[in-house]
Amino acid sequence: MSDKDAFRGLRLHNTLSRQKEDFVPFDPADVRMYVCGPTVYDFAHIGNARPVIVFDVLFRLLRHLYGEAHVTYVRNITDVDDKINARAAEEHPGLPLNEAIRRVTEETEAQFHSDMGALGALRPTHEPRATEHIEGMKRMIEKLVARGNAYVASDHVLFSVPSMPDYGRLSGRPLDEMLAGARVDVAPYKRDPMDFVLWKPSKPGEPAWASPCGIAAPGRPGWHIECSAMSEAHLGAEFDIHGGGIDLVFPHHENELAQSRCAHGAPLMAKYWMHNGFLQVEGEKMSKSLGNFITVNALLKDWPGEVIRLAMLQTQYRQPIDFTQGGLGEAANTLRRWRRRFAAGEAVAAAEPDAGFLAALEDDLNTPAAIARLHELFQEEAAGLPAAHASLMLLGIDLTRDRAIDRDAVEALIDARKAARAAKNWVDADRLRAEIEAMGVAVMDAKDPATGELVTTWELKR
Ligand code: AMP
Ligand code: ZN
Repeated sequence: MSDKDAFRGLRLHNTLSRQKEDFVPFDPADVRMYVCGPTVYDFAHIGNARPVIVFDVLFRLLRHLYGEAHVTYVRNITDVDDKINARAAEEHPGLPLNEAIRRVTEETEAQFHSDMGALGALRPTHEPRATEHIEGMKRMIEKLVARGNAYVASDHVLFSVPSMPDYGRLSGRPLDEMLAGARVDVAPYKRDPMDFVLWKPSKPGEPAWASPCGIAAPGRPGWHIECSAMSEAHLGAEFDIHGGGIDLVFPHHENELAQSRCAHGAPLMAKYWMHNGFLQVEGEKMSKSLGNFITVNALLKDWPGEVIRLAMLQTQYRQPIDFTQGGLGEAANTLRRWRRRFAAGEAVAAAEPDAGFLAALEDDLNTPAAIARLHELFQEEAAGLPAAHASLMLLGIDLTRDRAIDRDAVEALIDARKAARAAKNWVDADRLRAEIEAMGVAVMDAKDPATGELVTTWELKR
């Protein structure tokens, strides 16, 4: 198989080369992608939804270009982490820690799946949990020690950064800057301040496994080794795409790359490293202390998943996003306009996506250009609805899902309810709402902060 057969028009920005490159997978019959998944201790916030949506669009595009059966997508679940332990102790003080951890991780994982499903994200091919891969991590750690890339000290196993001459290539930062960025605590047992933990001892009551490398005390893995072991188990020593948010480039991905390359003696871990930009809310960094921390779950009470998704995709994935209520209102209006064009009954199945739309998506997932092309398509009188539908499906938006219901009737009831509310006729407004809900439709009200106007959207109940 030559590179010519494997290149299907997709170009991706590679963090490793800092350039846009032709995407040429190792094996076009088995395109392999790994994305770092959630640490399951809390509701996913709207920033966490960004990599999920971005890489879901890429997954859909790869399946379109290479065939559904020829793409493997792995996204892990980190269920061993100090933040999980802290949350478990806080939420279930009466339970033994391990039982409390099981509850927290199971509940959070189920919530994550339900929230991301509502945003239209497909489930990855495999979703390994870290706790299912402890043996693989231990094997990799022992290999690293045997090869001289890691050492045992005070019941810890540490990766020796000076043992890898080109460490730091991914983030491209000088060592002193990395050192400041990593804020590594310079523990006395470290030979070099940059060395990082592969395995550490557990305190009594904390999750613990028999340690590798002849260490008597039971312990648990460090964070970075989890992804190296899970990607190896499902995708092999080298694979095509590794993704995550830009905050993961250093230290997480730099360290994953170091571990995997040294353990396998391989020149690459992944051929293409992709990172989504960060999301801000109404011009500010999202944080609990600023009180602008938005969970996906809360946002889904006001807006249908497809509205949130379209609003997110209005920005190219590498750019920072300013996520606003105004942007959501705009996306809701766009979808409402487009939805009206799908006249009941017209066949939309089995069409190819629009060529201009596809070209935009293939250009490093240029979703704003792809959406602009959709606006053009919908403006043309004789717009090919099947091609528009196939294009939207690549973005994970299905405007035909609710065709079985009488949309005009729903819209008419929504308009009547809006009029009743404007007249402060709450009895009629409530009656109309109940009537709409009885049709199997969820009604959502949000306010456009710019105009103060009420924006009402609806979707089929999930
Ligand atoms: P975490 O649970 O913090 O490890 O984050 C899970 C994923 O969400 C990672 O890929 C992060 O890079 C990404 N992420 C976290 N916060 C944001 C944000 N504000 N904007 C975009 N991506 C984010
Ligand atoms: Zn990872």
